[in-house]
Amino acid sequence: MAITLIALGSNRCHGRHGRPAGVLRAVLAELALLAPVLRVSPLFDTAPIGPGSRRYANAVAAIDWPGAPASLLGALKAMEREFGRRPGQRWGDRVLDLDIIASERLRLHTRRLTVPHRHLAQRRFVLDPLVTVAPEWRHPANNLTARQLRARLLRPKGLPRA
Ligand code: ATP
Ligand code: CA
Ligand code: CA
Repeated sequence: MAITLIALGSNRCHGRHGRPAGVLRAVLAELALLAPVLRVSPLFDTAPIGPGSRRYANAVAAIDWPGAPASLLGALKAMEREFGRRPGQRWGDRVLDLDIIASERLRLHTRRLTVPHRHLAQRRFVLDPLVTVAPEWRHPANNLTARQLRARLLRPKGLPRA
């Protein structure tokens, strides 16, 4: 068993599931058919970064994924397509984005997949839900917990540590 953390994001409506929050609820139901879902964060409403224009619903789920990370990425990409995501501009509006955030202490870097996710520590829209699901998970590169990564991101720049 490997506890694997998945980030979910949506900022477009879906014909059947409606608004982004509805899309994520439907995706969570679908994820449960793929693997046991151990924990789910609340849904967060966040402002877009980059060229996107609409607000996002974001969440993090912890699943038990016993297989290879590459096969999980394939399953998540299939789910993105099934929910109507079309290839397009990176960071543009999308009905569904599923990223592998981390899998326990795994460190992996291939052409298709980097785990932990390379932008994890800079993204509040990932760290806020992650802290509700796995506050004590430690980034294998620097040994900081999810809670510490979030505190570091939120600390005002230039101020010394308390
Ligand atoms: P970002 O990576 O900055 O979150 P994005 O999610 O919008 O951007 P995508 O277009 O969804 O980017 O994915 C681009 C590629 O990133 C994917 O095709 C995938 O091969 C690769 N990738 C690398 N590491 C990961 C990961 N941990 N989870 C998901 N995809 C990853
Ligand atoms: Ca992403
Ligand atoms: Ca992605």
